[in-house]
Amino acid sequence: MELIHGFEPIREQNIPELKTAARLYRHVKTGAELLSLVNDDENKVFGITFRTPPRDSTGVAHILEHSVLCGSRKYPLKEPFVELLKGSLKTFLNAFTYPDKTCYPVASQNARDFYNLIDVYLDAVFHPRLTPRILEQEGWHLEPENPDNPDGPLRYKGVVFNEMKGAYSSPDSILAEQSQQSLFPGNTYGLDSGGDPRKIPTLTFDGLMSFHKRYYHPSNARLYFYGDDDPTRRLAIADEYLRDFEPIAPDSHVSLQPPFDRPRRITHPFAAGAEEAPQEGEAPAAARGMITMNWLLPETGDPVMSLSLQVLEYILIGMTGSPLRKALIDSGFGDDLAGVGLESDLRQMYFSTGLKGMATENAGRVEALILDTLSGLAASGIDRETVEAALNTIEFRLRENNTGSYPRGLVLMLRALTTWLHESDPFALLAFEAPIHTLKGHISEDSRYFEKLIERLLIQNPHRTTVVLEPDSGLAERTEAEERERLEGIRQSLGPEGLREAAANALELQRLQATPDSPEALATIPSLKREDLEKTNKLIPSRRIEAEGTTFLLHDLFTNGIVYLDIGFDLHPLPQHLLPYVPLFGRALTELGTEREDYVALSRRISRKTGGIHAETFTSAGGIGDGRGAARLFLRGKAMSHQANDLLSILQEVFLETKWDNRERFRQMALEEKARQERKLIPNGHQMVNLRLRAHFSEADWAAEQMNGVTYLFFLRDLLQTIEQRWDEVRAALKEVHRILVNRPALIVNATLSEDDWKSTRPAVERLLRALPASESTPSLWTPSLPPVNEGLTLPAQVSYVGKGANLHEMGYRAHGSMQVISGYLRTSWLWERVRVLGGAYGAFCMFDRHSGGFTLVSYRDPNLQKTLDTFDETAGFLKQTGSGLDGDELTRAIIGAIGYMDAYMLPDAKGYVSMLRTLTGDTDEIRQRLRDEILSTTAEDFQRLGEVLEGLSKEGFVKVLGSGSAIEETAAARPGWMTVSKVL
Ligand SMILES: [Zn+2]
Repeated sequence: MELIHGFEPIREQNIPELKTAARLYRHVKTGAELLSLVNDDENKVFGITFRTPPRDSTGVAHILEHSVLCGSRKYPLKEPFVELLKGSLKTFLNAFTYPDKTCYPVASQNARDFYNLIDVYLDAVFHPRLTPRILEQEGWHLEPENPDNPDGPLRYKGVVFNEMKGAYSSPDSILAEQSQQSLFPGNTYGLDSGGDPRKIPTLTFDGLMSFHKRYYHPSNARLYFYGDDDPTRRLAIADEYLRDFEPIAPDSHVSLQPPFDRPRRITHPFAAGAEEAPQEGEAPAAARGMITMNWLLPETGDPVMSLSLQVLEYILIGMTGSPLRKALIDSGFGDDLAGVGLESDLRQMYFSTGLKGMATENAGRVEALILDTLSGLAASGIDRETVEAALNTIEFRLRENNTGSYPRGLVLMLRALTTWLHESDPFALLAFEAPIHTLKGHISEDSRYFEKLIERLLIQNPHRTTVVLEPDSGLAERTEAEERERLEGIRQSLGPEGLREAAANALELQRLQATPDSPEALATIPSLKREDLEKTNKLIPSRRIEAEGTTFLLHDLFTNGIVYLDIGFDLHPLPQHLLPYVPLFGRALTELGTEREDYVALSRRISRKTGGIHAETFTSAGGIGDGRGAARLFLRGKAMSHQANDLLSILQEVFLETKWDNRERFRQMALEEKARQERKLIPNGHQMVNLRLRAHFSEADWAAEQMNGVTYLFFLRDLLQTIEQRWDEVRAALKEVHRILVNRPALIVNATLSEDDWKSTRPAVERLLRALPASESTPSLWTPSLPPVNEGLTLPAQVSYVGKGANLHEMGYRAHGSMQVISGYLRTSWLWERVRVLGGAYGAFCMFDRHSGGFTLVSYRDPNLQKTLDTFDETAGFLKQTGSGLDGDELTRAIIGAIGYMDAYMLPDAKGYVSMLRTLTGDTDEIRQRLRDEILSTTAEDFQRLGEVLEGLSKEGFVKVLGSGSAIEETAAARPGWMTVSKVL
């Protein structure tokens, strides 16, 4: 057989439903496999994946993932990855560690950029320059707590060490990890591939090196290409790296978990807030427990089984009225569902569901309830419409292939890897037409198809676990004490000489981290030139019409036969005390039930007849008209064009006939909402801090905090009390929100669809509008009461989110496109080095809103507090210094990065929605083009000028910190009176 660049073709298959030709190749010399998906998607994707099952919980796979991105043979920089982040048109660039694999994916719409990214990634994984210093930086090292006292107490530091401390602070991630591990005590899935902070410090440099040598080898590699680039060139690019290697047998096989003969039960503690009288609306610690039941399911390789289980998951818990979800929520044992649902990324699938916000003494009852509900379904049968609803939704998702901000090609890569990684057919899960057809056949032949699955795979399956997570208010302290003790032991055993060595070592690491890359090293990073950048913005089609007294925005885009419809209600007419009701009001429209149908039937109908309807708020200081900015609630729906009439009649029914007096259902929704808001605090603390800072900068941003921020959480806790004690008030408020919002002249209708589909859909849209009430809409006056200027918001966490911000417009700054260049540069250089590399935080963000003038700096999973605030304050000085000596290439890279951000890839529904938001905020095509021109012509002087403006930040800026109580108390105590401390959790 004739080889193509060292590869032999193994298989080829057309996948018409993806408009893709799929080809599988094998690199003959090394055994590396390459999956090549050829189609006309300009958002090209490349990925290289290694099978990396760890054999312990030291986080070796995860630390290696970080480490190989710290310099390689051809690119001898400290962090080539970061240079790419700064100066590429990438639409995706990241790396992931899974329990069994490590993936390095990149994506770009620009072919030259795409090839640059691939080369840096291939050199990184095959020829990294691993050194003990890199393990120390990315993994862990010791340093004196106080650098002036090298003989004093020690502490651990390192990026992954800290990242995992953050993960171990999140009850949800502990629950997910414990649930998975409980099912797989016998194989690699029973370990923590991310790394257990207690085990991470046992990883040695030799351990890291041998893991690399064994697993990061072509014989253990799976390469992937997707998109409209030249298919033959793909093989040449890969061969150039692969051919230097001799084949090995890496033995990275993931074994099957041996079956249990009886179910197991595990109890595990998690750190909960101190045991004191709960605040109003807050659950007592005892009711903050969680439970999941988990079942091991078949292997992932069978596409019909895999699809069947996706449908079954949707039947059981996917809809608000799904029988298992409903039974759990109705039981009153907990606030919200727990568990990941169907997990299908590993070699064997599993299903995990349960409750959170539960008193652990009810664990047995919850378990019995789940089993009884399943038995009931198996015995008396699942409602036919529920099956139809689940099947329609899963099929819609496959056809829509809406991957949000993720490139489509990346999602397909992960889907292919599910089977490919374990030597089964990589095409198996890509094509969906045949499995859907087969599944529909099974369902029509056997009316008890899903009931039998429930019986066989859940009820009669002895490979099942129950995991109970118990709140333990002393755990955080004990964990800290244990770590201190361990470090004290190490300190004693090191002795004075060893301690000085450790201190010197830490200093040397800091010195290296603070030393910039040489210009020669930087020059190795391949980069586009300014001439390669498009000078003009790509425009999104948008047409405005007025009909039925309402504004319509239409976007004629190819959507594969799907109608996307957004209906926006103006929030300005609401009196301000009703603002926090808006998110629940939006959910209530589809989750409370109507005069004709209860919420179970309604949620089923939405799933049967549409691709989904959900509510979303939008606020921006930018606006047209009275200068108050935009504040809207959107109801966003989608459907295949032949279902558009169903979508519209559902919308009409929920707008006009929602049954506002269903107290019990509304109480459940409020409880869920509170649980979800609390759950956001740890993974998304930076967003909460940012919202809280921005509340000071404009009325619209203040409204956003009322509807999404910490204020909203406090509102929900009060609301739960009010629902109990004065339901009439709550019902009256909801009716008032309804009366004010559902008003034709204050609506905007946004439709993204083809011109033909618009012609056939338009009459139904107009019919809907005619049915809605119309009266004069008068804006209310809002008088924001702002939170304290400097705030510490405490939670039981080992890390913090630290933020500082100021309104630059008030400090004399006029919005200019160069800000996009500079803020990206700050994030990837100054903040990255100080807050992440030196500070040990996971990252830091820099955001500017050109409508309000709000400028914010926020760190993520940060072990420091005051030190980060100092860095923020020194930003002005850094910019002024940079401005005087900024290297031309560096500036170009920053400009490319900003253009890449501006040209972010969007799927059609996102294009239509974003175009409408631009209209609402007054962002015309002319303004956006000026922004682009300003980005392209940014100079070093712009850095200097911004530095001068930011000088005011240290004195005039606001500080918000969400996180570790002890760190906050300490900072507050250092300067009595300047910071208001309150407890959030
Ligand atoms: Zn990581």
